[in-house]
Amino acid sequence: MSLSSSDIKGKEISYTISAEDIRRELGIDLIEEQKVQLSKVNKTCEKCGHGEAAFYTRQMRSADEGQTTFYTCTRCGHQFQEN
Ligand SMILES: [Zn+2]
Repeated sequence: MSLSSSDIKGKEISYTISAEDIRRELGIDLIEEQKVQLSKVNKTCEKCGHGEAAFYTRQMRSADEGQTTFYTCTRCGHQFQEN
């Protein structure tokens, strides 16, 4: 094989770090549960530039990380986060 698994993984992480990393860390079931409590806020989507996103906050397992706010763009569905 010409590509090692580490090469492929590196490329994947470069553009899926935010949403995929959250899913791995918390589990998809927990994410879905939290979506019930979504509220909307004026937040510019970093992908399409839309000015409204749904959001929720979640305490991360590590005390050092504190509370993380998760956003989902209401137009394109892009997910991003902010500590
Ligand atoms: Zn968007």
